[in-house]
Amino acid sequence: MMGVLGGTFDPVHLGHLRPALEVCQGLNLREVRLVPLRQAVHRPQPLASPDQRLAMLQLAVAGEPGLAIDDRELRRVGPSYSYDTLVELRAELGAEEGICLLLGADAFAGFLSWHRPDDILGLAHLVVMRRPGEVPGEPAAMDEALRVWAAPRLCSSPATLAEAPAGRIWFQDVTPLAISATQIRRLVARGRSPRYLLPDAVIALIVGDGLYR
Ligand code: ATP
Repeated sequence: MMGVLGGTFDPVHLGHLRPALEVCQGLNLREVRLVPLRQAVHRPQPLASPDQRLAMLQLAVAGEPGLAIDDRELRRVGPSYSYDTLVELRAELGAEEGICLLLGADAFAGFLSWHRPDDILGLAHLVVMRRPGEVPGEPAAMDEALRVWAAPRLCSSPATLAEAPAGRIWFQDVTPLAISATQIRRLVARGRSPRYLLPDAVIALIVGDGLYR
């Protein structure tokens, strides 16, 4: 099975990297591919350029075999839909290999407003990473429409993900790290240090390029 984590990565931080690695190892994935988007659909556009976000990701995953970068959305013009990316990946990997689309609980909360959510589940499993302060595994934390939609697809053990290439939803506990890119951009804008929230090499690029000031 292969994992996919899409995002703006503006910048990439330990709240992306640590959960991605834990899902990779916890579910025995071949690798997790971090997929930076070019044009956001549900949020303001990133401040850093595609090249800068790609460079930060490359610095962040250097030397970690479980994490890789896939820059296909940066090369595609127009809005970056996970659906399009998964169609391409499915064609490349074949019908049999499991694909796990990783997403934070905040992203999962809005999943039904994504482009073609049912078709996404036809192409991949959803692995929801628990984010601090949120308990997505508890039905009360999901809105009613999402709860009803998710219920028949929830799996009771991660082993069941391996039984199908797509179509199931699993909530994976990961070390809660209350880090967001927004928080890091704000710290840098105020002249404060973001150290220990993201890799030092990424901070060096932010400082060198004068990003987020
Ligand atoms: P921003 O603060 O700019 O909105 P972000 O920190 O949420 O950014 P994104 O690049 O938008 O980062 O997130 C990509 C994916 O990673 C999303 O699915 C998001 O839910 C997840 N994610 C981000 N931060 C964390 C975290 N601290 N713990 C778990 N998942 C996270």
